[in-house]
Order: sequence, then structure tokens, then C-alpha cells
Amino acid sequence: APVIECRNVTRSYGRGENTLNAVAGVDLSVAAGESLAIVGKSGSGKSTLMHTMALLDRPISGAVLVHGTETGNLSGRQLERLRNQEFGFVFQQFFLIAGQSVLHNVVLPLTIAGIRPAERRRRGMEVLERLDMADKAKSRAENLSGGQKQRLVIARALITNPAVIFADEPTGNLDAATGQIVEGLLFDLNREHGITLIVVTHDPDLADRCGRQAMIHDGRLTTLTPAAPTAVEE
Ligand code: ADP
Ligand code: ADP
Repeated sequence: APVIECRNVTRSYGRGENTLNAVAGVDLSVAAGESLAIVGKSGSGKSTLMHTMALLDRPISGAVLVHGTETGNLSGRQLERLRNQEFGFVFQQFFLIAGQSVLHNVVLPLTIAGIRPAERRRRGMEVLERLDMADKAKSRAENLSGGQKQRLVIARALITNPAVIFADEPTGNLDAATGQIVEGLLFDLNREHGITLIVVTHDPDLADRCGRQAMIHDGRLTTLTPAAPTAVEE
């Protein structure tokens, strides 16, 4: 089964005559290990689509399947657990906890999952070492540079060994050189570790590095390149 599948997904804001379908009737399958860019102009519905795929928002109609399992009937807690187990998030805003150490921030998903402190520490140091940040473990998150913050965010996204990393404008707040490094890290994870990468971006170069691009216009999926292979009819 695809790692994530949207079936006729619609997500709206507001009600009555003010209802806006931010995402409308989207069908989209993402295979394990692929990299997909979600592109389109500002306000076209990219973030809303990503949030729906990432189980942060529920569709108002249609279905989102994860590893072939329908998620519409899951409770909020079950969705949170599934998200925490399967997904990592790298957003433009870092969502780091100021006043807390880098190690504390990196293990946050494990804390949420109820993992014991000793194991949290072990896995936290392991992932910080992988991203060459072990020497920063005790620094406060707010004292890091922008590039280090985004590396910390990537470390936090990785700590649960997620199947998918969702990245929303991951280089949006970084200078070009730092952006390149962060971009490189994300594609290494995709190519070398098989983590599925789903990235919302305005950056055509970043989009071009992805295996496929989904173009969104007024909430609708208008183009998917390259097109999915057509099923052979018997
Ligand atoms: P993009 O990520 O492509 O910029 P969004 O998904 O953020 O697009 O937004 C799609 C549409 O939904 C826009 O018209 C936006 O104004 C609207 N929208 C987004 N979030 C909300 C919200 N929380 N409440 C109301 N409207 C929203
Ligand atoms: P924007 O609409 O400005 O693009 P974001 O896409 O950054 O906002 O965030 C939208 C929502 O996603 C927020 O309500 C936030 O709480 C949630 N969110 C962001 N990062 C994470 C994360 N790492 N884990 C879970 N939820 C997150």
C-alpha cells in the first residue's frame, strides 16, 4: 500500500456561505521512499493539503489512508499516536522550546510517547551525533544559529524513525547557504535512509530535486509530474 493516500479529500474553512474549500477533491498517492514537492502559488492550499495528509487536520470529506489504513474513524489521541510514530515535521517556524536544552527539545516526541528518560537520552545523543550536533546537547535552543535550529528540528523529526518527513518551506527562514545544507540533509535522509519526503515549497530548485511535483491551484491538484504510471488493463 502507498505510505499515504488521499482519496477525494476536501478540507474547508468557515461555514455557510463563507465556506472556503482550501483543498478540494484531491486524489494523491505517495509511495514509500519517494520525494514529493507540493507546489503552487500562495493561498492555493498547499499547507492545508499537507496538514491533512499529515493527520494534523481532518478532511471534511474523502479519506486519508496511512499504510493502507483509513484514518477517518480514529480518535484524536489515536491520530496523535499515529502521527508521532510515523511522521516527522520540519516547518519554517522551528517550534522549539526556548529555555530548554537542545537535548530536551530533540527528545520531545519520545517524551510525548512516554519513553523512559535513560532511553530518551541515549536516542537523543545518537541522533544529535548523526547530525553533528552532539557538542550542542546542553546549549539552550534559543542560542543556536538559524541553521543549527533547523538541524535540531530535523534531529527531532528523525528521533522516532518516521516513515515520512513533512517539510513546510523548510528553508524559508534560512540564508541561501544554510538552506542548501538543510536541503542536502533532507535529501540524504530520503535517498540513504528511504524516508519518504513530502515538501511544500515556493523554491523551484528545491521542487526540482524531488522525484515528483504536485501542482495545487485553488485547492485542486492540477498537475502531477511525472504522471503516475497508468494501470495496465487486462
Ligand atoms: P498555501 O499553503 O498554498 O499558501 P493555505 O493552505 O495556507 O495555502 O491556504 C489555502 C486557503 O485557505 C487560503 O485562501 C487561506 O486564506 C485559507 N486558510 C488557510 N488557513 C485558514 C484558516 N485557519 N482559517 C481560514 N482560512 C484559512
Ligand atoms: P502556517 O499556517 O503559518 O503555515 P504551520 O504550517 O507552521 O502554520 O503550522 C500549522 C499547525 O501545525 C500549527 O497549528 C502547529 O501547531 C502544527 N504543528 C507545527 N509543527 C508541528 C509539529 N512538529 N508537530 C505537530 N504539530 C505541529
